[in-house]
Amino acid sequence: MQNQPNPLKPPKQGSARALRNRAAQSDAPVEPPELLDLRFMRAALREATRAEAEGEVPVGAVAVYDGRVVARAHNRPIRLSDPTAHAEILALRRAARKLGNYRLAGCSLYATIEPCAMCASAMIHARIERLVFGAHDAKAGAAGSVLQVLNHPKLNHRVEVVGGFMAQECSELLRSFFQQRRTAKD
Ligand SMILES: [Zn+2]
Repeated sequence: MQNQPNPLKPPKQGSARALRNRAAQSDAPVEPPELLDLRFMRAALREATRAEAEGEVPVGAVAVYDGRVVARAHNRPIRLSDPTAHAEILALRRAARKLGNYRLAGCSLYATIEPCAMCASAMIHARIERLVFGAHDAKAGAAGSVLQVLNHPKLNHRVEVVGGFMAQECSELLRSFFQQRRTAKD
């Protein structure tokens, strides 16, 4: 271990040296927000390709807290025989377990598609701070495309929503998945 604490010199938690050490340990110490969004959405896309490899609709999600990924998940309703096993739900569950709190205040969620009503509602229950999603979903999107569950005027909790981020990559994955399924059926 490189950074073993010296028992004679207890580390000062918020000291400049401690912060520098922490920055040096981090894989991405200082990144502008747009680059962070790219990095985390790419992680969500990697999850989506995992779903695809398992024969599930390719949707992925990651939960981020304090600049770090705390949970990753992909769609698994078929594998788990669970209609609620959407990537976002699984990511929220994992993040809550990891952080030991059913409220995920301060957490951001990155998802490759606009959330459905169930996932959007779960994000509100979790008190997610920010949602970045890729493709809009004209059939089931609940961040404005079909329904307005997130930031509904009658609901108290507000979520900062960035929609259509890396939308092309995210929707291309879905498009080719469904095209392959149709070809396979012919
Ligand atoms: Zn969903």
